[in-house]
Amino acid sequence: MRITGYKSHGVAAAAALVNAVTAAAGDDSPDALRRLLRENEFFWQEFEDADAADFRRWGRVLRPFFEADRLEEATAMLNRLMLEIPMHPHLAVHEPHGLHMHYAPPSSRLVERFRATTLMNLAELIVEHGLGRTGVCAADGCDRVYADTSRAGRRRFCSEACANRTNVAAFRARRRE
Ligand SMILES: [Zn+2]
Ligand SMILES: [Zn+2]
Repeated sequence: MRITGYKSHGVAAAAALVNAVTAAAGDDSPDALRRLLRENEFFWQEFEDADAADFRRWGRVLRPFFEADRLEEATAMLNRLMLEIPMHPHLAVHEPHGLHMHYAPPSSRLVERFRATTLMNLAELIVEHGLGRTGVCAADGCDRVYADTSRAGRRRFCSEACANRTNVAAFRARRRE
């Protein structure tokens, strides 16, 4: 997924992982995680069931980023993680992304590459947009997070379903008045 000129499929992947692991209706089973990696163009073929625990831990680590309402807070968090996560930026060429950056050391495991890529893509996102593109769904009773990768960047809901439900409720409330 391309946003603002970056090949940053890690942004949507980070939101999907946080929802899989931390949302009430989330599914963080190995099969669901494998599907998530495939949908977000990571090397899902390398995923093994034993990796699930590491992915779940990373999903919990990233949740506060989406909940942050102050840029300083989000910046400090990403800076701390960028010092903890092994990084060794280099260029790579492979489908479906063509020439692009890899951030983890070349021989890293899938989960290590996933951590480095999601982290760097979130960092690039806030450099460009501050916290305007990420958040917790505005629908009543929904605890899912979103990352807006559209050009317009006006998203406030995790899904069309939540946006529609909220709009219908607002419409009914107006009619009652
Ligand atoms: Zn790559
Ligand atoms: Zn929602």
